[in-house]
Amino acid sequence: MSDDRHGWSEPGVEQVAPNAFRIPLPLPGDGLRAVNVYALTTPGGVTLIDGGWALPESQETLEAALGQLDLDLGSIERFLVTHAHRDHYELASKLGHLLGARVELGIGERGSLESIVARAGRHDDSPLNARLRAAGAIEIVTEIEAARAAGGDDRSELHWHLPDAWLRDRQVVELGNRTLEVLATPGHTRGHVVFVDHAAGLVFSGDHLLPHITPSIGFETIPSDSALTDYLASLAMVRGLPDFAMLPAHGPSRPSMHARIDELIGHHEARLKQMLAAVEAGASTAFEVARAVPWTRREVDFRTLDVFNRMLAVNETVAHLDELGRRELVAASRDADGVTHHAA
Ligand SMILES: [Zn+2]
Repeated sequence: MSDDRHGWSEPGVEQVAPNAFRIPLPLPGDGLRAVNVYALTTPGGVTLIDGGWALPESQETLEAALGQLDLDLGSIERFLVTHAHRDHYELASKLGHLLGARVELGIGERGSLESIVARAGRHDDSPLNARLRAAGAIEIVTEIEAARAAGGDDRSELHWHLPDAWLRDRQVVELGNRTLEVLATPGHTRGHVVFVDHAAGLVFSGDHLLPHITPSIGFETIPSDSALTDYLASLAMVRGLPDFAMLPAHGPSRPSMHARIDELIGHHEARLKQMLAAVEAGASTAFEVARAVPWTRREVDFRTLDVFNRMLAVNETVAHLDELGRRELVAASRDADGVTHHAA
């Protein structure tokens, strides 16, 4: 597989280390293109890091890739999942349930996952909607709810199960000759974890470190009040490791991770400055700030994003404004309608 911008997402199997293989699985839409599942083979079978989105073609691609390794779905002993987003957790949860493979997920995901499982099949309001309203983005909530009412929601959470075990920070996982250390890296979600193979010099980085894009911050069912603060602290913590190779969930692997971590920190510092300038220029709610700054690598106007990405953008803006508040660069206050306003 080549290291051009999209070559990594072509179906197949790439050996990334002894007994470790990268298997890209398809995703709906062409935004992220694919999600990498890492197959770690042991004398007894195979452990997968992340599971993919539960599409029939994802399962077929996984089955074909395992076949190239003389394995099948029945060989899967265990899923270690970096976080509870659909493209990582859904197929792991489905196959784990179906095949009896053990599914493990960071304990920080517990609140969001229990909420998803408990609300399955019901249409009550989510804490994320409440957060968007407080951000002054009621029109986004209205648009999302309208799409849901029109049948755009496939109720995927009906297929979600709780994991068999919750992973804890610094927990050690033994897989045959390989030892992985679990490191909690909250930020992308509260319970995101990475898996470090110290002996091989590898970090299975999930969505914490991605080579081409900056991970979204704090998009989850029970949103955190400190997603960016936590993300920056997690980046600094992982930066304290030796300059190991990074094996991300989206994109090709990279032989060293420090330079990418520095870029990600620099990106958020630049975004904090842009958003502070927007507040100084009079933007008050997170929705107003989000509309005042450019988005994506291509620096496009907020209004050109689809509703899902506008929701992510507002959510990220909230996380940056929370961090600016923590640095005492902006002050927040809530009006009678429960909408949060910011002043420099
Ligand atoms: Zn992802």
